[in-house]
This record gives sequence, structure tokens and C-alpha cells, in this order.
Amino acid sequence: MSEYRGYNGRALEFLKQNKVKVGDTVKIITDFEQTATIMPRYEHSDDSHIVVKFKSGYNVGLGLDKIKKIECLSNASSTLESNNIIKHNPALPKILLLSTGGTIASRIDYRTGSVTPALTAQELNASVPELAEIANIDAEVLFSEYSENITPEHWIKITQKLDSLAKSDYKGILVAHGTDTMQYTAAFLSFALAGFPKPIVLVGSQRSSDRPSSDAALNLIGATKFIVKSGANGVFVAMHNSENDDDIACHLGTRVRKNHTSRRNAFETVGAKPAFVVSGDSVIQNFARPYYNQKDYTPKIGLDSKVALVKYHPGYDSKLVENLLDSGYKAIIFEGTGLGHVGRTMYDVIKKAKQRDVFLGMTSQCLDGQVNMAIYESGRDLMHFGVVPLSDMISEIALVKAMWSLGTNAKNIKDIMLKNIASEFRE
Ligand code: ASP
Repeated sequence: MSEYRGYNGRALEFLKQNKVKVGDTVKIITDFEQTATIMPRYEHSDDSHIVVKFKSGYNVGLGLDKIKKIECLSNASSTLESNNIIKHNPALPKILLLSTGGTIASRIDYRTGSVTPALTAQELNASVPELAEIANIDAEVLFSEYSENITPEHWIKITQKLDSLAKSDYKGILVAHGTDTMQYTAAFLSFALAGFPKPIVLVGSQRSSDRPSSDAALNLIGATKFIVKSGANGVFVAMHNSENDDDIACHLGTRVRKNHTSRRNAFETVGAKPAFVVSGDSVIQNFARPYYNQKDYTPKIGLDSKVALVKYHPGYDSKLVENLLDSGYKAIIFEGTGLGHVGRTMYDVIKKAKQRDVFLGMTSQCLDGQVNMAIYESGRDLMHFGVVPLSDMISEIALVKAMWSLGTNAKNIKDIMLKNIASEFRE
């Protein structure tokens, strides 16, 4: 039913009776006559309006009772088909766009702003024509999930697919991904594919493409320029750098966090500038450290998800950790207070966890700064019980790293957690 996406009841009947569909260019007569495009609607919206986009670019809801006449001028499918011819330019590099879902993975149509769930090479070409001037883009749909539904099994699937492309002739790989859990996926890829010889760039969008303010196309264009021009390898997240459409930030996959629910520049590199910024046609590098400690590509694909992230707070019930131990959890990452503390009510369960050989790591719930457990007595006590301070590793990144360490080299989890694999912490 994507031809009538989001329409129901009277509004749906109205479109059908007048033989117009989403994406069609129409002549519409209300108090005056205008040309507009029929826009998709949200599923649960009322049935007394249709939404159209006028030439000015504005989306407007029109009450059915205001419309005196509506007539199809040109059909959506015919316009799309004529845009669908991909011209490969042998002078440009090849890039693969792997789609995993999220708002970004919907087809973006500049003309209508319409959203459909699958993204094919043809549709991409038709939707963001600027891309064809930067690179030859192939597209493949790996799966189609909003990122809140992405599980560690999906990470493995993405990683295996990327690993199979390490020696391909693609200059780099774009991974279209929902923004909600993008930082977790980026972290897993950074560890499992450490030293990957090409740039892997996760790209999402904060605004659905049926809004004039969508960031999807610009994020894709910025990410593509980054792959072509930066010369970087490793895993990055490319999103708006500010509320404006000026620059796209490319954050290191192990230092990035979604810090705003809805702003286009929701992603930030914690404690530093983004590794790269794409501004117009130039790519500015802010990051001096190497992305990986090792030079060679040595993929290690595996994980064990028996790791818990525990945010300590006043009144925290230590029985919750007791339950984790009883449920067979093998590692716990604490998000402690300040420099890396939990209260003394936790000491007994921490000792018990240690006796059971559970790895205990400490990060901080402060968004910036380093864990330092040597300053206060409580920190020193915790270290004495075997809690390992994890420098300035972001807690979610530490969680993913512990899952990966457990799944690839469980015996050495402590050593691996303390080894900088992909610039996840400051030395
Ligand atoms: N909830 C969506 C997701 O993470 C939001 C988005 O697509 O950015 O998939």
C-alpha cells in the first residue's frame, strides 16, 4: 500500500476516487489553483486531510472540505523510472552502501520527500543524484530493522559481510543504520574488524525524509566525500556537525555517543572534536592519534552477550547484581559515580562476583574525564576487590568491548580490556 502510504478512511477514498497517489504531481484547486506533490502521511494520522508539498518546498495539510478539484498532472512511477538509469562513471571510485534499516534506509526522494522501506541502487541514484558525481554507488540491503531492534547477532552479520569485502575493489563502505544504537554497532565493528583496510562509515538520519528538514541526503553525501577524500581507514559515524547543513562530522566509532534525542547534530565525540569534518569539498582532520594499535588487518569476529552494564545510583539494590551472578553473567561494567565509585553496600556482592571469576570493570557516569580510583578510599577498596578502572572508555563502548573480549578470548578479558584496540581510551 506504499502508493497511499499513511492514508486511511476518507482521505484514502478521496485519493482513490480522484485517481491520484503518493508522489504524483497534481493540479489542486482550493480558493486558488496550485501545482503540488502528494506526500505520504504518518500511519495514525486523521482521515480528513491530505498532505501536499508545494513548489516552495513546504509540506501543507489540506482539509478535504477545502479541495474543490484535484487532478493528476504526472505520475510518480513514470518520473521515478526516468530517473532510475544508473550511469557508472569509470573515473570515479566504487563504494558499497549496505543497508541495515533505520530512517536513513528508506528511500529519500528530494521531490516528494517520500519514504519507502527498502533502498536499492536505482532508488538511491534517483533520490540523491549528487552521489553519482562523487562515486559509483552499489547498494545492498542486509536487513531492515530500526536500530532499537538490532541485536548482537545483527552485529555479527554486519561484521561478516564487511569482512568479506576487505579485499574488494570498493574504496569504502557506507552502512546505513538507525541512529538509536549506532554507537554500539560502530564499537563492535571497530573491535572485531580492527585494522580494516578501508573506511567503514555508519550513516543515519535524525529526521524522517518526509520532512523538509531531513538530514539523510546530506549525511550520505558527506559520508561519501569522506570515503573518497580522507584516506582514512577504520570505523566512523557520519552525521551533521551542527544544526545547520554546513558540515558533516565523522566521529571515531569507539568515541562517539548519541547525546540528543532529536537534533540533527545529536552525535558527539566524547571529550574531543570529531576525528574529521567534511566541509564543502574539503575534509578536515582533527584527530592525530592512530585509529588502531596494530597495522595489519586481523579480524576477530565473536561475542558473548553475558555482560551487564550497571548504572550505580543512591539506593541501588545490590541484589540486582546478585541476580546477574545467579543468571550466569560473566562480566559487569559499572557506570560508577564521579571518578569511578560505587557505595559500600555493594562491597559484599563485588567480592562474591570476584570469587566467581566475573570480570568487573569501572567506567564513569560523568560524560567526560577519566576514571581515577586511586584518589578516594572507596576507589582504592574497589580496586583491592578486583574492580578494573577503564580510563575514559565510554560505558556503552566498554560493554560492547567486554562482549567482544569474552567471545574471542575470554581467558584474557582483563588484558584485552586494558589494551587500546581502536582508540577507545586515552593512553
Ligand atoms: N529509532 C530509529 C532507529 O534507531 C531512529 C533512526 O532511524 O534514526 O532506527
